Amino acid sequence: MNILITNDDGIFAPGLRALVDAVKSLGTVRVVAPDREQSASGHSITLHKPLRMDAVKLDGVEAYSSNGTPADCVILGCLTAESPPDLVLSGINRGANLGEEVLYSGTVSAAMEAAIQGLKSVALSVASYTTDDFRAAARVGARLVEVVPEIELPGDCFLNVNVPPVLWGDIQGVVVTRLGKREYINRVDRREDPRGRAYYWFSGSPRESSSGEGTDIGAVAENKISITPVHFDLTGYETMEVLGGLAGALAEDL
Ligand code: MN
Repeated sequence: MNILITNDDGIFAPGLRALVDAVKSLGTVRVVAPDREQSASGHSITLHKPLRMDAVKLDGVEAYSSNGTPADCVILGCLTAESPPDLVLSGINRGANLGEEVLYSGTVSAAMEAAIQGLKSVALSVASYTTDDFRAAARVGARLVEVVPEIELPGDCFLNVNVPPVLWGDIQGVVVTRLGKREYINRVDRREDPRGRAYYWFSGSPRESSSGEGTDIGAVAENKISITPVHFDLTGYETMEVLGGLAGALAEDL
C-alpha cells in the first residue's frame, strides 16, 4: 500500500515524524510536506511561482520538503509518484481541528485536496497546541491505515480525526461526530512599528463550549476520539428550495 503523508506544521514537526514512525511498517510511505509551518493556510494552492521538492533524510522513508502549501504538497505528491497513493494522511497536527476550524486548517485542507483528487484521506490532529506527546494519536494513525482502506467512503468524503491530548489508557472511547460550532473570542492587537506605523495581529482563542450533542468538540472535551466524515460539496441543499422565489424575481428582469 502506498501512503502519502503531509501536514501543515512543516516537515520537521514532531507530529509528522511520530506518524511516519507509526505507519512506515504498514506500507510504502512517501512524505511531501511544507518546508515551514503553514497552519491556518487553508486550501490555497500556488500558481504564480515555481514549486520545489527537495529530498530530505527522514526516518528511512522517501521524503521531500516543499515551498508549497499543504494542498500543493498533496498535488505534488500525487503527480510526481509512479503510482497514486492508496491513502493520504495529513498530520499529526499539533492542535485540534474542530468545527469551522476545518475551513482554515491546512491539515484538513490537505486531506480535502486528496479527496478532490479521488483518494482516500484522513486528517489527524491531537487536540493540544502545547503537547509533545503524539503517542496516542500515532497509534490511532496506525489503526486508521489498517482499517480505512477496507471501508466504503463516498468519493467526495474524507475523515477528520481529533485525538484528545491524554495517555492511551485515559481515552474514553471513539465516536463518529458532526462538526460543532466553535465560538471564538476574536481579538486583534493594534501595535506600532519602530517608524510609528500601525500593524495588527490576530489573537483569537476558542471559548470553552461543548457545542451540543454529537459534535466533534463535545467528544474531544470528554476525552474521546472524534471521527467526522467531511465532504467538500458546500452546497446549501436545504436552502435551494427557499431560493426559488429569488431566482423567479431575478428572472422577471430578463
Ligand atoms: Mn498546524
